[in-house]
Amino acid sequence: MSEIVFQQGLFRDPGDPGGRRRLFAETVTNVVVEISSYCNRQCTYCPVSSVDRISDRKSLPAEIYAKILENLAQISYVQSLCLNLYNEPMADRPLLIARIREARAELPKCRIYFSTNGDFLSPDYVREMVEAGLSELYVTVHMPKGRRYDDPYAITLFTDLSKRLGKSIKVDGFSPGATISGRMTLHGLPINVFSINYDVYGTDRAGSVKKLTQATFRRTSPCNRPFHDFTVSHEGTIFPCCQMFVDNEHHRASFAIGRITDFPDIFAAYATQAMARWRAELLRFGPKKSPCDTCNLECRDPQPGESERRDELYRRFVRPVPDAPPHPRRPIFGRWLDGGKSE
Ligand code: SF4
Ligand code: SF4
Repeated sequence: MSEIVFQQGLFRDPGDPGGRRRLFAETVTNVVVEISSYCNRQCTYCPVSSVDRISDRKSLPAEIYAKILENLAQISYVQSLCLNLYNEPMADRPLLIARIREARAELPKCRIYFSTNGDFLSPDYVREMVEAGLSELYVTVHMPKGRRYDDPYAITLFTDLSKRLGKSIKVDGFSPGATISGRMTLHGLPINVFSINYDVYGTDRAGSVKKLTQATFRRTSPCNRPFHDFTVSHEGTIFPCCQMFVDNEHHRASFAIGRITDFPDIFAAYATQAMARWRAELLRFGPKKSPCDTCNLECRDPQPGESERRDELYRRFVRPVPDAPPHPRRPIFGRWLDGGKSE
């Protein structure tokens, strides 16, 4: 993850199109676009399990996707473009291939990737995605609905996936009872495979998965997501981060920044005061407001001196100290210090 270039515009809209464009280009490294709504699973640790994303299949309107790509092309975007949020993008093969192709045509150097549950993966599907322009793939193998995580079963799922793809997965991480990770390359595509005990190590998705909210945990860590991410749901609604779920009424009413169509371009949406407020709130170490107070995503302790540095950034950019008042007039030996004028 590249370092954030902290600057005034992150906390106060630069106000002009050029400044907004520069701000986005200098800060955003991950554009997340939910190209569709459908997911074939209902994992209990995912907010999808509380709604119906199976019978009603929606796609992000093509003109909204085109607008996002067109804007990114204007800044010759070379960072990451993710094509999933709470959807299973591989479930609609023609749509996914078209969206990868369009992105690659507009953004020749961009890193295009997404996460999948792997249910639709096959060698020829991988080849087609590579030909369309996909850069990298993340596969999370989930337990079947109702089954709790266990290591032997996760390893069985890894083995099944490996057989289906005709290629071995090199396991490079194992934390008993928590996670297994591995990787393979197929048709030149790097594929990262995970299995995670989300019942224990999941996040509460901005409070929408209540059973994962830890009663005693309160976040004090900063969060970089509203800085380096730009997140768009399948309806074209913009959120400060990927933890927010457009099908959740409270999230939509309270956390949405607006719709892509409300703004002249994505740069104006990113620079808006609503986004700036999230960034100001999450810049420093210290207690957080809801829904960030219970979010454990990427929590960490400060590096030496980091708290002080972030406090200083806050004073500089968020609560700037007003121009120093004139030095108080102090008499020295019967004369006034400011200008030496005697009275
Ligand atoms: S975790 Fe992934 S696969 Fe499971 S329901 Fe959510 S989006 Fe679908
Ligand atoms: S701390 Fe807040 S902004 Fe950051 S990922 Fe969690 S919910 Fe999103």
